[in-house]
Amino acid sequence: MNIFEPHLFRQQFPLIIQHEKAQIDQHSLNPALVYLDNAATTQKPEQVINSYQYYYQNSNANVHRASHQLSSKATSAFEQARSSVQKFIGARSIKEIIWTKGATESINIIAQALARNTLRLGDEIVLCASEHHANIVPWQIVAQQTGAVIKVLTLNNQGYIDVDSIDNVITSKTKIVACAHISNVLGRINPIKSVIERAKHVGAISVIDGAQAVAHLSVNVAALDCDFYVFSAHKMYGPTGVGVLYGKEALLESMSPYQGGGEMIKTVSFTQATTFNALPFKFEAGTPNIAGVIAFSQCIDFLAPLLADKKQGYSLYEQQLLQYCYQGLSQIKPVKFIAEGMPDIGVIAFTLTGHHNHDVAMALDSYGIAIRSGHHCAMPLMTYLQLDGCLRISIAAYNTVAEIDYLLNCLHSILQEEG
Ligand code: PLP
Repeated sequence: MNIFEPHLFRQQFPLIIQHEKAQIDQHSLNPALVYLDNAATTQKPEQVINSYQYYYQNSNANVHRASHQLSSKATSAFEQARSSVQKFIGARSIKEIIWTKGATESINIIAQALARNTLRLGDEIVLCASEHHANIVPWQIVAQQTGAVIKVLTLNNQGYIDVDSIDNVITSKTKIVACAHISNVLGRINPIKSVIERAKHVGAISVIDGAQAVAHLSVNVAALDCDFYVFSAHKMYGPTGVGVLYGKEALLESMSPYQGGGEMIKTVSFTQATTFNALPFKFEAGTPNIAGVIAFSQCIDFLAPLLADKKQGYSLYEQQLLQYCYQGLSQIKPVKFIAEGMPDIGVIAFTLTGHHNHDVAMALDSYGIAIRSGHHCAMPLMTYLQLDGCLRISIAAYNTVAEIDYLLNCLHSILQEEG
């Protein structure tokens, strides 16, 4: 799948194709499933699904521990996946890549293993108004534990972090700045370079939540020069239960372990202090999600070249679908986008004047269309925008123009039915 061809790309996703076959078998004009909830989680390609079966049938053993060949085989595939991630995000060393359960756990590790030990009363943590709860609640917990205070970067009308607010909000009191590369509701690429530079200027640690970025952008953490970058495999065609915590080596070295157990230790005794393993293992207590990590490396293998080479059309195709969908929605009168202008990635949030979000989402579901309605794990953003929720369409590269047409037609029908 190194060259992007939309039809072939779509063929790699059994769940999607299965529904397409059902439609054909039933001689139905309507698709059985139009999956437009990709910001929640993407569908999984064959390589990822098959990787589980291959692993459990051929290489299943615990990693790093045994002196037998099967364990070496599992360890080698597991560590190969770490190298793939290192290259994928441009990290300097594999020591900087920690496996976690997902972006949420990665942020909690930073909050508890770093911030909890370094924040003092009155220190400030800066977040952005559009953060996902995963990048709010861990900081609220650590603020409570330490007496630190949370400050919030505002948004401009287009839904981007307001660059003019950066210098006022990030000050010498700021110790941590944590914000999303792309909001899961607004779909805008935030000016994180400016945020990171300002954080560095005041001596604060920068944490970038890349959960919505990694499937759409080529990310280079060394170029960004952020201190931490986190993401989840399941939002980039990979399995659930696998995530990445990237951290600069020196910072990770300075941090205490997050959890204790096997694998993260060097020596343990009842009479002397336990000593900890080197990076990255210091943060990987217990048996990791070996099969998941190895399966994840499969999607990095196909996604990395697609993201890196714009000429191959993956990003262009995503943009075409976004534009087509955005323009189609713009022509539906009751549609009110929650921010001005077209988003940067295929995440489109809106309300329909005179219609309840949930009713619309349920009606779309009855047509086989999966979108999301609600607060999207961003309640403070809803409060900020004075909304009690919204609808969100999120597009992946296996979606098609025909699916968008179907969505738009169904929306028209629903509006007519609901009057
Ligand atoms: N950050 C953002 C921007 C997200 O969209 C999400 C999930 O929707 C998360 C963090 C949390 O990711 P996970 O639930 O995989 O840990």
